[in-house]
This record gives sequence, structure tokens and C-alpha cells, in this order.
Amino acid sequence: MIKTLKGLVISANDFREKDVILTILLEDDRLKSLIVKGAKTMTSHSRAAILPYTLCEFVFDDSEVKDLAILKSAHLIKSYFSTSDLYQNAALALIGELTWRIEERDVLSFDLTQVCFDLCKENAILAPTFYLAQLLKALGLSPMVDHCVICDELKVVGLNNHEGGFVCHKHALKTDCLAVERLKKFRLLNRCPPDQVALIKKQDFDFSDFLLEAEFFFYHVDLKLKAYDFFKSLFK
Ligand SMILES: [Zn+2]
Repeated sequence: MIKTLKGLVISANDFREKDVILTILLEDDRLKSLIVKGAKTMTSHSRAAILPYTLCEFVFDDSEVKDLAILKSAHLIKSYFSTSDLYQNAALALIGELTWRIEERDVLSFDLTQVCFDLCKENAILAPTFYLAQLLKALGLSPMVDHCVICDELKVVGLNNHEGGFVCHKHALKTDCLAVERLKKFRLLNRCPPDQVALIKKQDFDFSDFLLEAEFFFYHVDLKLKAYDFFKSLFK
């Protein structure tokens, strides 16, 4: 059946001599691969729709082999890619790679990914940090941020990735103590509902806040991402 659906292009890879395969997160939260025939010989105008980090309307036969179809046409709605901001593009790449690598866990959300793509321009650090926190929530792996994860003590001093959340002074052991402000930001971020990013935009999230979230995430989710290494290298 021929369908017209909106989707976010999260990657574009060369395929055969003249074709490209797009990986798309469709508006119905499915990931789909679309083959673009002759992509490399297209005019630049048509090519704009098949670059990574765009929102497009795609026409394709949805009855073809489950996850793979041939693109019939694409109409560009919006591009998130920047021609000048490396940080913005690195944040997009990280969100994009996370999206296709986490697919099998069945937690993808078109709306959330679109919000985070949008946020990359405004705040390249908050966007992937927020995305990681929301993925943890969807995976049921959110850190405990209401009290010490071991003893319920409300006064906490640090985060222990292995235990899965905040720890009190008594249970901090070798855990680094963190400033109250950082703990507050971490709590706010991990409690924020997926559609309420505006609530945390006013907070001043920096690279150390990103790292705190990312290190917790990758401690519990076993993934190696090129885009993560690149993103970190930009800030070091
Ligand atoms: Zn405790």
C-alpha cells in the first residue's frame, strides 16, 4: 500500500553505486529504511530532502519487505542541520545514532526525537542530555533521585551509577561528592516529563551535566557510539 508519512531522517548511507539508504523515524514511531534510487545523481534541490537530520514527507510502498522500501518521493519540511555550527551537528549526530542503535528496545518516540532535534540549535548540550534522560525513563532505568538509593535518606551528596541513583553521606563511600546545584539539575532533568522540556530550558546545563547523565546511561545501556566519542572530544 502506498503511504505518505512524515519522518525524521536520522542517517543516510551510500548504497550500491548511485543509491542511498535513509534511516527514518516515522511519525508512527517506526524505524524504516528507504532506498533512494539514483540519489547521487539528483539535482541539489531534490537532494536536500534526503540529507540526514531533516523532517520530510515521504511517499513509499509500506507493504514491501518489513523494514525496507523504495522511496517514491520526498518533500522537505525542515532541516535541522547547520552549515556553520559544529556543536549543533554533533548533538544531532548523537541523538540520531542513539535512535537507530536503541531501536530493538522498542522505546522510540517521533515526538520526543523531533523536540530534541529542534533543541539542538538552541542548546547543543541540553538536547542530547534531555534525550538520554528520556530514553532511560522509557527503558525503565531512570536513576533514583528522590532519596538515597540504599537507605531512603533525603539528604544526598552524590550519584552512584552502579547502585542506580543518589547516595547519602553514609553510603557515598568512594562516590565523588557533587555540589547541591548539580544534584538539583540532575534531579530536575530526570524527573522532567517528555513533553515538558520548557521546564528545564532556563537551567544552565553545561558539559559536566551532560557527562553525569551520559555516564549513568552508558553504565546501564551497553552501547558504543561513534557520535558519543566525537561529542565528548569537542568539549575536552
Ligand atoms: Zn544512604
